[in-house]
Amino acid sequence: MDTLLAKVDAENPSINKEIIAKAADIIKNGGLVAFPTETVYGLGGNALDAQAAMKIYAAKGRPSDNPLIVHISDISQLYPLVDGVSEKAEALINAFWPGPLTLIFKKKDIVPPETSGGLDTVAVRYPENKVAKAFISACGVPIAAPSANTSGKPSPTRASHVAYDMDGRIDMIIDGGSCEFGLESTIVDTTCDPPCLLRPGAVTLGMMKELIGDMTVDKAVVSALKEGEKPKAPGMKYTHYSPKADITIVKGDLDKVEKYILEQADKGKAEGHKVGIIATVQTEDSYKGHNVLVIGDREHPETIAANLFKMLRKCDFLGFEKVYVEYFDEDELGMAIMNRLKKAAGYDVVVL
Ligand code: AMP
Ligand code: MG
Repeated sequence: MDTLLAKVDAENPSINKEIIAKAADIIKNGGLVAFPTETVYGLGGNALDAQAAMKIYAAKGRPSDNPLIVHISDISQLYPLVDGVSEKAEALINAFWPGPLTLIFKKKDIVPPETSGGLDTVAVRYPENKVAKAFISACGVPIAAPSANTSGKPSPTRASHVAYDMDGRIDMIIDGGSCEFGLESTIVDTTCDPPCLLRPGAVTLGMMKELIGDMTVDKAVVSALKEGEKPKAPGMKYTHYSPKADITIVKGDLDKVEKYILEQADKGKAEGHKVGIIATVQTEDSYKGHNVLVIGDREHPETIAANLFKMLRKCDFLGFEKVYVEYFDEDELGMAIMNRLKKAAGYDVVVL
């Protein structure tokens, strides 16, 4: 199939009404449209249509036991989908919707098992991105949308990333520029008390605890699962975000980290390997003579989050075989950054 690529004004999508209407028509006819959100690009289909959900799995090469997040553009769309909203879920909704937070609820029968990966729960998010809101509301149905990447690859944060993975596999890509946060949404299971963090994101544990008190954290968020252990979010069991290069994270005092990475990179280079280093504005000068990608500013972790997937994709593009990444503190947004980085590195962390 030919994939239509259309640019929409990120700030004022209403000036591109005909493009949004075209995208909505595709959805109403059971097709697939990739669209920008404030987290990453989503691959959307009608969440209430089992066939559309199956097309999403096929386009991504995603295992069909890995449920899709259902996106809405108005709070009134939540209640027909879910069987009960707890007081704590209500508080999270009031504080963080629209925004980068996905909540898990018991589902009603209207949500087909294809969308929920066979679970009796459903994940729902109300995104803030203006293009996403305009698109979902024009569709008139909730939109099931996982990240618009090939399964196992880094999530797309630009329309060009989506095109690279999905060209010829979906009907349309709406280009609304780059994604503000650059990491997938925070996921919280609200069917248990206290609610449980299943995936860290831009809405941090600290921000939520301040509001609703105690929360638990699923084991899969911070460490590799042992043989036989199951994460509560089925998708967390897959090796995600992996570029082709072998990635190693280096943890310790920053001066020791720089010294170690430099030694390893010199050694790798001398052995004829193409080595890359993911550094920060604070450390880039330490690696002169090597292939350095600057991911952001340690003083502003949001810059690191926003660039992370782009940098992982760039490692492939530049043909790196071995990549060294500096460690980031795992508090607040750092928890989400390190969760994605550790998965990309297959949990290969050198501690100095
Ligand atoms: P993606 O849309 O690619 O960011 O992936 C969606 C994530 O949400 C995956 O990790 C899923 O396993 C998780 N998820 C979706 N629905 C549920 C659910 N009902 N219960 C637990 N996790 C879910
Ligand atoms: Mg994904």
